[in-house]
Amino acid sequence: MNIGFKHHIVGNLEYLTIPCFDETGVVTHCFTSRTGGTSSGECQALNLGFNRNDTRENVLNNFRIITQQINVDYRNLVFSNQVHEDNIASITMQDGGKGITVESDIRGVDGLITSERGVPLVTFYADCVPLFFLDPIKGVIALSHSGWRGTVKKIGEKTIYKMINEYGCCVDNILTAIGPSIGKCHFEVDEPVVGQFFKSFGKNAEEFIEEKKNKKYHIDLWRANVLQFQQAGIKDEHITVAQECTYCNEKLYFSHRRDKGKTGSLAAIMQLV
Ligand SMILES: [Zn+2]
Repeated sequence: MNIGFKHHIVGNLEYLTIPCFDETGVVTHCFTSRTGGTSSGECQALNLGFNRNDTRENVLNNFRIITQQINVDYRNLVFSNQVHEDNIASITMQDGGKGITVESDIRGVDGLITSERGVPLVTFYADCVPLFFLDPIKGVIALSHSGWRGTVKKIGEKTIYKMINEYGCCVDNILTAIGPSIGKCHFEVDEPVVGQFFKSFGKNAEEFIEEKKNKKYHIDLWRANVLQFQQAGIKDEHITVAQECTYCNEKLYFSHRRDKGKTGSLAAIMQLV
């Protein structure tokens, strides 16, 4: 397993990439931080959510800033429309701009997958777990939004199976990564949530759940997603974990829990070149 994403700093803009994804030369991608944008207040500064307490102009501007850095045309971005479920949509060139320049019919979708070059996929975060997938041999990419509900529904594992079954990927070639999100240090839940994890993962859930005082539990969502990758057959050397908690790092990340919902949106962006 590889630990850590690479941080790029350009002026006051900071963003992250996955080293082994960069090395393939077949994708451009990033996970954004909150720095380098034009939004203010709770959305300061690089908010990428149109549904936040921010102006449309700011958000568009922020998209222009980040996409310019990674060589993506913001007018072609394709947005997910996340509902904490496990639906994964197959995206083609015809979907270009859905969510940003044209109205979208992509609804109830937490995962995006494509084998077409020049189609930039976007998923959104503020604590939930960003999952990145790349088969550099077959030329297939996917992004999945895996909060605790998505993790219970195993959207990560389902994304891998879709790459294999519908796109002809070989599991030995698939690279995976887990971006900055809420860490075990701050993800505290009650018994009913823990019950759902045991229902989904069985005894394996013991590996990533720790009991605290007063019937509170801390869950390691990174470990729970790594476990899914391993069970789907992904090689250990093809798994990268950023190991950065969004709640812990207020300077770099928005966090829904820390900011009690009054916060901006981070994004994962990826495109085959
Ligand atoms: Zn933390």
